[in-house]
Amino acid sequence: MAKNKKRVDLKKNRSKPARDKGWTRGFQQHGYTEEATLGGERVRAKGNLSRKRTIDTDEGTTMPRVDESICLPGRVVCVYGLDNLVQTGDGRRFRCKVRQVLKSLSMDERSIVATGDRVWILPLPNNEGVIERVEPRHGILTRASRGREHVLVANVDQVVIVIALKEPELKPHLIDRYLASAEQGRIKPIICLNKADLIDPAEVQPIVGYYSQLGITTILTSAQSGMGLKTLRNLLKDRQSVISGQSGVGKSSLLNVIQPELGLRVREVSDVNQKGRHTTTTAELIALSFGGWVVDTPGIRQFALWDIIPEEVEGFFAEIRPYVPLCGFPDCAHTHEENCAVKNAVALRYLNEQRYFSYLGMISGKMEEASEE
Ligand code: GDP
Ligand code: ZN
Repeated sequence: MAKNKKRVDLKKNRSKPARDKGWTRGFQQHGYTEEATLGGERVRAKGNLSRKRTIDTDEGTTMPRVDESICLPGRVVCVYGLDNLVQTGDGRRFRCKVRQVLKSLSMDERSIVATGDRVWILPLPNNEGVIERVEPRHGILTRASRGREHVLVANVDQVVIVIALKEPELKPHLIDRYLASAEQGRIKPIICLNKADLIDPAEVQPIVGYYSQLGITTILTSAQSGMGLKTLRNLLKDRQSVISGQSGVGKSSLLNVIQPELGLRVREVSDVNQKGRHTTTTAELIALSFGGWVVDTPGIRQFALWDIIPEEVEGFFAEIRPYVPLCGFPDCAHTHEENCAVKNAVALRYLNEQRYFSYLGMISGKMEEASEE
């Protein structure tokens, strides 16, 4: 890859002259070769305001290059405060800090490293390490907190929406709510209708057919009878999935039968989060023995309950979108207006009435019953 130079601001708390403090010392101490350090970092004697450091980066990213002969690639499986738990390819785990220079590259320091990130670490004794580089992300699950978008999980390939067909009773609008959230996050949804042993599969065929027609993979499973588990396993294999759904629908049970030691683990993590850290949401990645990762935490489960503003809602219903430009009013909410193409399409059964009701529920904000809180 071509080398690039990138100029980054020094952190404000480093505005004092830096050279005599030896701010390349850290790099040298942690095993960088003299040459790499000198080539990779330069101090310029300029005024405080213009003082910058120059680091080598790869083309197309703002991340520093790393020495692949001494650094290891890995995945961030959990973030605890300033510590990041990184699992390398061979299954070893390292408790890592983030190299200071990475923080100055980021707009939002809290999100410079997130669960799910693919990183390069410099391993240190006692299973510690330093994160030297974060690879570009895709499929980011975020949450707004104090007016800023905070990355909860990076590199999510898909969200598995677990819905119970019974106990608790199936609520179709809840499926639509989760789907809208997946759409909002631009993450591929999979609908997993669980507890299929409690119903007659013929009963739910219309729902399965309907969502399949919308292009969404929809499966019937039972943690009890084993139905659909092979399919679920295949869908999870080699991907990073978020498992989402109300409590009691069978998420832990499903994970537990897919990979025995897992369900227990999930429980432990949830308990820690609920008792110890009420306000912070920590996501944890769990490696699947057959390949792939799953994320399961209470906070993530409720990602469907994030704020959605009413004007956005129509955009999350792929099949409604084409009718919107045909409405009489440019700002048509498709509720009471005349010449509404959406309402006409529902009347003509081009659009599914149940989905339209879900839409109405979402724009009127009457979805609180979806909340577990
Ligand atoms: P979670 O809160 O989503 O993790 O749900 P759990 O896995 O704790 O399951 C909640 C309850 O539903 C437990 O009593 C399970 O035994 C039960 N359950 C889970 N999956 C199934 C299933 O497929 N069929 C039946 N009949 N019960 C299930
Ligand atoms: Zn309309």
